[in-house]
Amino acid sequence: MGDSRSRAVTLMGSYGLFAGLTLLVVARPELGPSAVPAFGLCLLWSDLRRDGESPIVLTFLATLVAAVLLVRSVESRPLIAAALGGLWLLAGAQAAQRGRQFSDEREMLLEQMNLQDQIRDDERDLKYYRSYEETVGVDTRLRRDLSDAAKSLSGTLDGREVQSRLITILQDRFPAARVSVVGGAGEDPLLLAAQRRRGPVLIKDARQEKQVVPGARFVSGVAIPLKVMRQAAGFVKLESDAAGAFGPDEVRTADLFATMASLSLENIRLYESVHRQATHDALTQLHSHRAFQQRLQEEVLRSGRSQTPLSLIMLDVDHFKRYNDTFGHQAGDQLLRTLAAILGSFARPVDFAARYGGEEFALILPNYVRTEAVQVAERIRARIAEEPFVFNGAPTRATMSLGVASFPTDATTASQIVRVADERLYKAKHGGRNQVVG
Ligand code: GH3
Ligand code: MG
Ligand code: MG
Repeated sequence: MGDSRSRAVTLMGSYGLFAGLTLLVVARPELGPSAVPAFGLCLLWSDLRRDGESPIVLTFLATLVAAVLLVRSVESRPLIAAALGGLWLLAGAQAAQRGRQFSDEREMLLEQMNLQDQIRDDERDLKYYRSYEETVGVDTRLRRDLSDAAKSLSGTLDGREVQSRLITILQDRFPAARVSVVGGAGEDPLLLAAQRRRGPVLIKDARQEKQVVPGARFVSGVAIPLKVMRQAAGFVKLESDAAGAFGPDEVRTADLFATMASLSLENIRLYESVHRQATHDALTQLHSHRAFQQRLQEEVLRSGRSQTPLSLIMLDVDHFKRYNDTFGHQAGDQLLRTLAAILGSFARPVDFAARYGGEEFALILPNYVRTEAVQVAERIRARIAEEPFVFNGAPTRATMSLGVASFPTDATTASQIVRVADERLYKAKHGGRNQVVG
């Protein structure tokens, strides 16, 4: 605004000066030769604003005035011509100077535009690198968390511990969320939705999805079913009071951790099943011979240390060969299973019932002296003798002979106690079977 006004003042001033000089020359033609150089002042003045056309217009007008003067005063012609020449030279010099300035300015402008382009490019690059850096940061954290989670979740053989570690991991990752691991869906609409879908469910705003999660006590939530050995094994639940607290990325991440926990639980189940197979008999589900030997060693050592008694009952089915021959092998197996269940029902939590061999069983009774163990053995014998052992709807009969030996009265080592109990069992057989020898 101020700039355009001062420009107008400059132009008006230079044209005004020009008009004044022209009037002076017209009024006093003898001043002509000195007036022409004075026009140079107009040129210089108009050039102050660097306006391309004003000096040209003024030069043209000054040339016209000079031409008139040349015609009118013959004697001043050389002077006027010289002054006009000088004026032209001045105008030419001005034009050249302006041209140079103009091209300099253009170059600067171009350079400025280039620089602005470059700044824009750099800013775009910077933005890209920032978002890349952010993505790499998120990726790195996820990878680190996954590796920590894998170590943590696989570092225990306790299913409950896996659950609580999973909660800790998810709580660390989603600090603002309420994290829980639940055994069953119950009446929870979010968990029921995950059960129906057999996969993760994401609710961004429960108030908008009342048909999926009616009466929800959260605003946004995620439910992920846990599967162990392809079977439902509970749910992971994330809840928040803020809308949109979770998105597909969060669901994927939580699902990943839940899957890791499921794998750990599967490993634990497999380990437990392999361990059980190694220590238990498949037919009767009692402890195996190997587990019995190991436990007896431990119990004898413990009794030795604590100066407490320990008893062992060895049991053998009477005429089992005949039983098999009479009722068939399947009936024999069924009998062994029932006998095992009866023996198990007599065992206290501290006792140890095992299938010693084919139709031989053993029961370790810590803290029992021989008379106490003989009483237990007698109760077992009587119970078996009166058991109907129904097979295919028909009752069958079976009895057992039992031998009892005790630590430290009969023996002081595991193998000795087994040998003594076995000898007494043999005596029971010879004594007519269906009896206890202790
Ligand atoms: P005793 O009264 O002297 O003990 O006679 P027994 O017939 O019971 O003894 P013996 O050792 O002669 O026979 C044991 C039989 O037990 C032979 C074998 O076929 C049978 N047996 C061993 N293990 C199993 C099993 O797992 N299932 C079945 N059905 N029979 C078995
Ligand atoms: Mg036998
Ligand atoms: Mg037998």
